[in-house]
Amino acid sequence: MTSRLLAAPLAFLLAAVACRGSEAWRAFDSERALAHVRKLVEIGPRPSGSPEIERTREYLTARLHEAGLKVRRQTFMEPTPRGPIEFVNLIAEVPGRWTDHLPWRRPKTLLLASHYDTKWMPEIRFVGANDGGSSAATLVEIGRVAAAARLRPWGCRLELIFFDGEEAVRAYSPEDGLHGSRYFVRRAKKTGALDRIRALILLDMIGDRDLSVLLPRGDPDLTRRIFAAAASLGMRENFRYSPSEILDDHAPFAAEGVPALNLIDFDYGPSNAWWHTAEDTLDKIRARSLEIVGKTLLKALETEDGALPSISKFGSDPHRP
Ligand SMILES: [Zn+2]
Repeated sequence: MTSRLLAAPLAFLLAAVACRGSEAWRAFDSERALAHVRKLVEIGPRPSGSPEIERTREYLTARLHEAGLKVRRQTFMEPTPRGPIEFVNLIAEVPGRWTDHLPWRRPKTLLLASHYDTKWMPEIRFVGANDGGSSAATLVEIGRVAAAARLRPWGCRLELIFFDGEEAVRAYSPEDGLHGSRYFVRRAKKTGALDRIRALILLDMIGDRDLSVLLPRGDPDLTRRIFAAAASLGMRENFRYSPSEILDDHAPFAAEGVPALNLIDFDYGPSNAWWHTAEDTLDKIRARSLEIVGKTLLKALETEDGALPSISKFGSDPHRP
């Protein structure tokens, strides 16, 4: 009798904790995310090495601190076609559980990422509401939700990375573009941290009011998780396979064998006409688009392996016959 009396509340408590843990995606607030995009756009053009990108870092860091995340800076100099530039990646750690520190646990780290620089385009006023703004803003809101829920996706620690220097000054080359992600991977390889990365999921250009997120060639397990999460939320029609490869901050990770996936809507305006133009402004961004991506990603992080349907349910992948 005594043990049954104790067991019932314990079972209830465990069920309540499990339930709350698996429903954190509901807390994603698209109006908060949109307010972050607005703030970033108000700062103006935010190219690497500018005073404006430093103000961007201060804004992102302040919001992440408020949500309870620890933020550290990874600072480095690299040559570019504009001369040497100081770049800064922001690495935000979602607060963990005391069990993370047990010596035999050593959980791996899941990385969610976005770039936060805007392309250097001195001839126009390029504010990057979608390209640089939307994904960084959504990541901040995901961080708030994840921290409140103490999310431990797939048994992993969770870190958010805001990459500097994604944009190329001229064209992508070993000395132009993807500076933040390439440096992060190089460092992680040197310190051995790369082996402890479970996966990287990258967001880019996800605010378009006419949202169609592409999943370029990526890790099939991650792809399956995103499609499954989107389907379970009734948002599946917003996600599809990309017909072509896209070079972005996930590439340096994939090249080292880290499971990596890029979620990008590379059809921004009529025939992508607003991409890298003065037209990439706040009026093109819709809170609902940020919500679709934010909730789908959080839902995917909260879905354990056993709950996943097979990939064949989501149609054929043109890259994998
Ligand atoms: Zn861009």
